[in-house]
Amino acid sequence: MTKQKYKSYTLRNYKTIKQLSVLSDADFNAIQVVGNVLPFKTNNYVIEELINWNDYQNDPIYHLTFPQKEMLKEEHYNQVEKALKDNISDDELSKICNNIRIELNPHPAGQKCLNVPIFNNELMHGVQHKYRETVLFFPSSGQTCHAYCTFCFRWPQFVGEKNMKFASNESRELAKYLQKHHEVTDLLFTGGDPMTISYKVFKKYIDPILKVIDKTNIQTIRIGTKSLSFWPYRYTHAPDSKEMLSLFKMIVDKGINLAFMAHFSHPVELSTDAVKDSIKAILSTGAQIRTQSPIFKHINDNPDIWVEMWRKQVNLNCIPYYMFMARDTGAKDYFEIPIYRAHDIFREAYSRVSGICRTVRGPSMSCTPGKVMVSGIAEINGEKVFALRFIQGRNPDWVATPFFAKYDEQASWMSDLKPAFSDKFFFEEDMEEIFHQKYSDCEEDKFE
Ligand SMILES: *Cc1c(COP(=O)(O)O)cnc(C)c1O
Ligand code: SF4
Repeated sequence: MTKQKYKSYTLRNYKTIKQLSVLSDADFNAIQVVGNVLPFKTNNYVIEELINWNDYQNDPIYHLTFPQKEMLKEEHYNQVEKALKDNISDDELSKICNNIRIELNPHPAGQKCLNVPIFNNELMHGVQHKYRETVLFFPSSGQTCHAYCTFCFRWPQFVGEKNMKFASNESRELAKYLQKHHEVTDLLFTGGDPMTISYKVFKKYIDPILKVIDKTNIQTIRIGTKSLSFWPYRYTHAPDSKEMLSLFKMIVDKGINLAFMAHFSHPVELSTDAVKDSIKAILSTGAQIRTQSPIFKHINDNPDIWVEMWRKQVNLNCIPYYMFMARDTGAKDYFEIPIYRAHDIFREAYSRVSGICRTVRGPSMSCTPGKVMVSGIAEINGEKVFALRFIQGRNPDWVATPFFAKYDEQASWMSDLKPAFSDKFFFEEDMEEIFHQKYSDCEEDKFE
């Protein structure tokens, strides 16, 4: 098998990964126990070219893709371990695992009902429109990834049965919606990973949009993808890579800004020949690559890592874009770091790079009201506070207004923060109104 031929590993066949022979028995067992609850998938590139197996316990990419014991609460871990030992039926096992999943906050930040637009009196499945200028599109064929991040906030869509059928009416509906909504300038293809889709199917999604693009106000098409980190051969060796690249060029030639929102969580993901070649191939079409990552324990909670990552990205002509806080879902306890630490790491890393790298913004929390950035830690009238601002708001009027929360070293998400100098954050009443007016049947937490 050549290294450019994609081979995935899941719970079904991971025992054939020969590199796993270096694992301790406990670490080896954890893959199966945790992998029954959180989705697990990796591939030959990640295994052969990214992970340093000699020091796997400290390897960031190992933590990023392989299930670890501490990702589950001890009681949950023991429960699944016992169930596997007792050889219970598949039905009983999936019942246990589902119950655990429900406790892991599977649908954070109003994703299930708050963001889904209504068009011609119907909910638009596969579309989210939260911020005025940008529509997210989740093509149903792209609800998977080349490997799964252990921190993924989209993990619920990877577990259980899925209908991976192509639904061409999805993008026809979207094309109609965009013609009616000229406030929308950006269309963001997301997933899963839309770059898991073949050229032929991807073209079927994008053609109905391109056909009417002059009747919309779309100026930027973005593709959110982890493929450059997890399967860069997609752009250089896949049977349809040339066609895919020509499609990118065709979009750019139409005068549209095509932007890859590439997820890179660690500099090692930028170090292989494969990723460098694929970045070059994408840039040669005239597309841009912007980069983003959450900040996590075990992977990148150190300013040196961010300095190296941003610098390497710029050297490869990519544009640093966001540093995110870990979402409050899944194995969050394993990865999360408090807000004050994330801000310290950001500030230190940011202060050590030149302005060329300072296109990055963060740390940012994507919560129900919007993207909240921690701009700093300040002392005002003798009170220590977090200074915050919306990078994006459900109501655009909230954007770029400073507001303050009580300093709290335990806080790791927006919902942990208490307002400083008043009883409510300035946007709270507005947010409640948004809830009541439009979404009275929505049971989601308004500050997640
Ligand atoms: C982050 C995000 C966007 C894009 O925001 P930009 O600031 O334009 O990058 C759009 N929709 C949702 C739901 C998001 O979380
Ligand atoms: S690439 Fe994104 S969607 Fe895919 S597993 Fe990782 S975090 Fe989830």
